[in-house]
Amino acid sequence: MTDATALPEGFFDRPLTGRQLSDFSECPRRFLLSQFVSEKEERRYRGAAAVLHQGLRDAIVAFYQAGEDVADAARELRTLFKKHFEGALCADAIEESRTEARGLKSLDEFARTWVPEHPTARDTDLRLALTIDGQAFASSADLLFADGAGTTVMRLNSRRPAPAADDLLAEPSAVLLALAADQLEGDRPKCVGYYSLSECKLVPIEIAPDQIDYVRRDLVSRAARMRRETQFAPRKGRQCRWCGARGRCEVWR
Ligand code: SF4
Repeated sequence: MTDATALPEGFFDRPLTGRQLSDFSECPRRFLLSQFVSEKEERRYRGAAAVLHQGLRDAIVAFYQAGEDVADAARELRTLFKKHFEGALCADAIEESRTEARGLKSLDEFARTWVPEHPTARDTDLRLALTIDGQAFASSADLLFADGAGTTVMRLNSRRPAPAADDLLAEPSAVLLALAADQLEGDRPKCVGYYSLSECKLVPIEIAPDQIDYVRRDLVSRAARMRRETQFAPRKGRQCRWCGARGRCEVWR
């Protein structure tokens, strides 16, 4: 296990993600340690919710990538979920069974409510880029749908309850998605948001025109704070419960 005390060389040569900005705000130590934690290790500490989300997200993206038969979407999605769900990362067999059941129920609802209106996706697993004042950022979306009415760019979300639209405006990851997706497809009407799999609804990320300069400056200033940081002190608190780097954090040794 790496005893991380500094960011990897060249870290700031790469675009920053919203997740990194959020981690740094919540706990600078987590931001640092996260650079050394594998995805699997992180999911083990983040618990069943993270395992569920990954399984759901991978199943739905694979469904649209394959262009599966929408008449039997529920069955196809269930099969894909069973393939992608890493139940062994749950705490025990009971949690695994409950989490799997919740995932299958969510997919049944998704097949019933979303798929009939959106049988095919124009794109999946999109990597998005954005540069503000010379600072490069990276974002991603799970699905892009396009029809005569416009384009919908969305990231799947498994939180319960669904995130509130106002709360998304305080999340760097959501704000970055909205700004980066706005550059796609020229002037076509766009809806960018988080699709809540727990409540079967799209929660839009709508930045008021007079707030755009502010949110852009905020992202750049968060990045500048990260660049200046040298201590990366741990900030123990509620956030430790779901921290993917907890296994490496000195606070919990
Ligand atoms: S366990 Fe808590 S203090 Fe340690 S890195 Fe994670 S969030 Fe920070």
